[in-house]
Amino acid sequence: MTQDISRRKFLYQVLTAAGMCAGGTAVGWHLLHRNRYPNMTVVKLPDPLAAGRASIETKAAMAVVEEPVAMVDAEAAPLEETVSIPNVPVDSHVSETEIRGSDIIAEAEEEAKMRERVLHFNEDLNDDVWLDENQRKIFDSLHTRIGRVQKTVGYGNFNILSFDEMLKVGDRYVSVESFTKAEKNLLDELFFRNAQDLGFFGEKVTASQTASIKSDNVVKVPGSGHYLYKGDSEKLFNKLCSIVGDDLILTSGIRSVAKQYHLYTSKVVNANYNLSRASRSLAPPGYSYHAIGDFDVGQRNWGLKNFTSDFADSDVFKELISLGYIRIRYTIDNNFGVRFEPWHIRVV
Ligand SMILES: [Zn+2]
Repeated sequence: MTQDISRRKFLYQVLTAAGMCAGGTAVGWHLLHRNRYPNMTVVKLPDPLAAGRASIETKAAMAVVEEPVAMVDAEAAPLEETVSIPNVPVDSHVSETEIRGSDIIAEAEEEAKMRERVLHFNEDLNDDVWLDENQRKIFDSLHTRIGRVQKTVGYGNFNILSFDEMLKVGDRYVSVESFTKAEKNLLDELFFRNAQDLGFFGEKVTASQTASIKSDNVVKVPGSGHYLYKGDSEKLFNKLCSIVGDDLILTSGIRSVAKQYHLYTSKVVNANYNLSRASRSLAPPGYSYHAIGDFDVGQRNWGLKNFTSDFADSDVFKELISLGYIRIRYTIDNNFGVRFEPWHIRVV
């Protein structure tokens, strides 16, 4: 009953809010009409690519994304038992409205969760998924073995090392030793699980675990230890260097599946085996756009600050944004469920 009152109260607030904003934005209108006009484009989680443009486009575009948050704030207000419920007529029209109201509530709740994930990326949240306790020992040995592979082949080479090559290095070097069956099972589990279950809503950009990167297609960027794909990525990076100058550095380029495994397992260990928390700071293996062309930039001598939101205050970032055409993959209001990453340049 309490929940029913809560939903009705919220419905009333939402409908009021939607009505109020109808003149200012199309959001309320779209939401209210989504059932009536099923074929029209309605407000939904913005497509990931559009989200990437949000920070450098108009505030109006951002408003579309943010609108449902305001609605949810209303829901978050403490509900008092004495709250008076608006008189809702019981004819068929209102039934329809109630159905649409449920949609609005569900959508607003999802939107609120998304904002919570992005803003509190480094905290343990209610719906987070954790690695089973009985898998943690294997996880640790897997993580350290991948680390030994990196040490053996070298930091630069490891960036473009394929999954099969990683396993082979284990077989060939006593300093690494073969990956165990349990470790291989865990590698499969990490790659093939649906990242949305962890609260990560990016697309799977590398479908094959064993995808390899052809050396003919890449260039090594001197002094960085990283590679870029020939073509769009290399051209864009060179262009940015020529505009911004020496202060701009490449902090991460192409990442093979093996490399993403290493970064991801590190994140998971650091997040105390909270898979969701790790996934808010790093795409799970198979989901990283670094595999297909995106890259990270930083300001010279900024160290680890290049991987915090502080980077948005750097001269390099400001100069990049002033160009007008740079797209940030994980904007402050992104719908991937990922932290704000002003350093991550979207290429693809
Ligand atoms: Zn990145």
